[in-house]
Amino acid sequence: MNDSYGRNIHYLRISLTDRCNFRCVYCMPADIQFAPHAHLLQDDELIRLVRLAVDVGFDRVRLTGGEPTVRPNLINIIAGIAAIPGIKEIAMTTNALKLEKLAEPLARVGLKRVNISIDTLDAERFHKITRLGKLDQVWRGILAAERAGLEPLKLNSVVVRNYNEDDIVDLARLTLDHAWDMRFIELMPLGSIADFQMDAVVPVAEMKLRIESAFGALEPIDWDGHNPARPYRLRGGRGTIGFISSVTDPFCAGCDRMRLSADGHLRLCLLRDDEVDLLTPLRAGASDDDLRALIARGVTNKPWGHGLAQNVIAGSRVMSQIGG
Ligand code: SAM
Ligand code: SF4
Repeated sequence: MNDSYGRNIHYLRISLTDRCNFRCVYCMPADIQFAPHAHLLQDDELIRLVRLAVDVGFDRVRLTGGEPTVRPNLINIIAGIAAIPGIKEIAMTTNALKLEKLAEPLARVGLKRVNISIDTLDAERFHKITRLGKLDQVWRGILAAERAGLEPLKLNSVVVRNYNEDDIVDLARLTLDHAWDMRFIELMPLGSIADFQMDAVVPVAEMKLRIESAFGALEPIDWDGHNPARPYRLRGGRGTIGFISSVTDPFCAGCDRMRLSADGHLRLCLLRDDEVDLLTPLRAGASDDDLRALIARGVTNKPWGHGLAQNVIAGSRVMSQIGG
């Protein structure tokens, strides 16, 4: 289905939970209070909403969070989504802490690809950024995902001033030996995390300079215009390097997505607070037709893009609740 700007909106990112086994400094406060389980979509409610979203025109889903691998019944949920006629692809974004054991069973029920977040290859810094993370365990998760065929494997790194801007050279080096897509992401300021605002953003232009001074010129690769990461390669590299410049050069014109929060709200744009509450009508007995109409209205009302340039900063939620 097209939105009012003619963009075909067909990609749904689903936050399976607001909970997480990390507490990344830029994503959530150390003392975050999670929502009570009863306020979150239950498994049957979630599968029903995905089925109705498919009726409206969505055909790709990505499971995210919070940390999707801490959601109880994850394997059954993926199997349930995979069984919906019209679903073309199920992917997941994860911190990989639990992937060593989970990669294989998840692939077996229908998960096709994973994006794994890794902001540094330095164990101490990794712990400082994630507050709870163990780099060696995450690394084993990455290798398990590759063995399970969850490919092309994408690694995501949010680059944050005074935390990991030096680490991007080591992360970029991974693409020389591994056929992985390494993607560097500009930090998106959300009003709810006071310490990480515009001054913590490292612009993509600076990231490129740092990588090119270590390895020489990046070689551009053809870009499909829908993937938010503009892709490049290091000379002789097996993998690719992408840059997501959500702040300094947003890709709103190519946006094809909306988000479903763990508490059943359709979030129309990541960085704006506009949402459609689906949970309340669903629990009040709304029919499939009513819910489809609400989802379709959400697509129609999708805003053009975020307003960071005008200092409009979304403030109602942290990233783990929205499903970043
Ligand atoms: N827990 C999973 C993970 O970390 O991959 C999935 C959820 S996490 C919210 C999804 C992605 O959002 C991660 O790559 C994370 O680094 C990124 N993220 C979180 N807060 C962000 C922010 N303020 N700006 C940009 N990316 C952010
Ligand atoms: Fe958890 Fe992912 Fe947020 Fe880190 S970025 S706290 S792993 S949800």
